[in-house]
Amino acid sequence: MLKIGLTGNIGSGKTTVSKVFEILGVPVFSADTAAKSVMTNDAPLIAGIKETFGNEAYFEDGSLNRKYIAGKVFNDPAELAKLNALVHPATFRAFDSWVKAYADVPYVIKEAAILFESGSYKLCDYSLIVTAPFEIRMQRVTERDHITMDEAKSRDARQMSEEEKLKLADFSIKNDDSELVIPQVLALHQQFLALANTK
Ligand code: ATP
Repeated sequence: MLKIGLTGNIGSGKTTVSKVFEILGVPVFSADTAAKSVMTNDAPLIAGIKETFGNEAYFEDGSLNRKYIAGKVFNDPAELAKLNALVHPATFRAFDSWVKAYADVPYVIKEAAILFESGSYKLCDYSLIVTAPFEIRMQRVTERDHITMDEAKSRDARQMSEEEKLKLADFSIKNDDSELVIPQVLALHQQFLALANTK
């Protein structure tokens, strides 16, 4: 079974592309969703967060005090790096246990906004990036999240540039107004099936 890492900058259309793969029957793991859920499910991670940020990081009912954690890491790269160093391995563990259920499928997709930044692409067989021009991505994000153009731009600035990611990616999908997404996904699906056959 092949592991395909899927990424792209904000508003590129990662989630949209993932949905097309899912329609084709390909199992998709969302690292962003998993990163949120491990923070309330993964015992070693919870212990590590309490040790690093204090018991106030969790409420008495076990739910995460998101405001408290956000306050700790907001505008503090060193604290954010500490949180990431705890959450990333837990998310990798969640993927490893999820993937066991799919031993018999030709390939699975791991969708991760920070596939390259976190180094998790190295644990995948191939990486796939969804691209779209900056203006289109900003337009989509401001409309979807009801945020200002400045906020969308500052979120994008926190990510590795699309250009750098393209250099690292094995495959790409263009999600702008010039090409349709579904035929590109279908073509890649055939390629991934063929690659899975030769593995
Ligand atoms: P993020 O990293 O910010 O979560 P993403 O890469 O997962 O973004 P999506 O959520 O898939 O991106 O897409 C961003 C927005 O743009 C969504 O509202 C989606 O419906 C819309 N969108 C994606 N692709 C297209 C397209 N080809 N045409 C029109 N709208 C699109």
